[in-house]
Amino acid sequence: METVNQIHQLRQLLKDKKAENPGLTVGFVPTMGFLHRGHASLMEAARRECDLVVLSIFVNPLQFGPNEDFERYPRDEQRDLEIAGKAGVDLVFFPQVEEMYPSPTKTIVSVSGVSEGLCGASRPGHFDGVSTVVTKLFNIVQPDRAYFGLKDAQQVAVIEQMVHDLNMPVTIVPCPIVREADGLALSSRNVYLNEEERRQALVLSAALNAAERFIEERGREATAAELTRVIRQEIGKSALADIDYAEVLTYPALEPFATLEAGQRIITALAVRFGRTRLIDNRILNIR
Ligand code: AMP
Repeated sequence: METVNQIHQLRQLLKDKKAENPGLTVGFVPTMGFLHRGHASLMEAARRECDLVVLSIFVNPLQFGPNEDFERYPRDEQRDLEIAGKAGVDLVFFPQVEEMYPSPTKTIVSVSGVSEGLCGASRPGHFDGVSTVVTKLFNIVQPDRAYFGLKDAQQVAVIEQMVHDLNMPVTIVPCPIVREADGLALSSRNVYLNEEERRQALVLSAALNAAERFIEERGREATAAELTRVIRQEIGKSALADIDYAEVLTYPALEPFATLEAGQRIITALAVRFGRTRLIDNRILNIR
């Protein structure tokens, strides 16, 4: 496994490898590091499907708000490289902020519609930061396939829209959410939780389970309003949980609906604060 910090080094390496093997397919996994099994599942999928696997580790300041956790975002370069090596990554791109933004960017890629609700509403500018850095990374790596986790289902919807609208020559591969044995979705931010918060954070997956059960019991008679009530009730069982949003929408359009229809794909999506830590989780359901 090779690690590079500079864009021109990465470009040269990729050029050399493609010259050796013109049919080479490149799989790309963009991350912010502090890697866990969720990230590893993306790298492993890329390993299975592509000749060359590129991982990027970059905590992108552009996607953090002024009062968010950019400064204290957890970092562990050594451990990340071990995890990447075990997952079969070939090339790690590890740029500094100055390498990606030598001067303040005057070009922003902004996807309207799908980026506006949920996390887009509670984190203004977040998805502009994401779509801009992903565009830069796609231009640098020029991958055939790029792997994203459905843990960030809205991010997947935003990136798919961007790739479609701008004719980017890359296939987006959405990958399932990886969870702890007790149901908590893996996240780099889980390390912020104290013991009691970690225990109570189980209400997120419990709320998604409750909504899914409600649909199984009621079938298409279940309404979006009832589902939201079931979810809020479940989260209400935690005294520490402070709901940022709890919504039921169509997926990937992320539009509200009143009643369920056969063949519809919906998402139950949550963002909940425990102290200073904001956790997100979701489930995508196919309505029969
Ligand atoms: P991040 O480092 O948080 O920006 O995440 C990098 C990529 O890993 C994104 O595509 C995330 O959706 C994905 N990811 C993060 N956590 C998980 C998880 N628990 N399961 C699957 N994918 C995940």
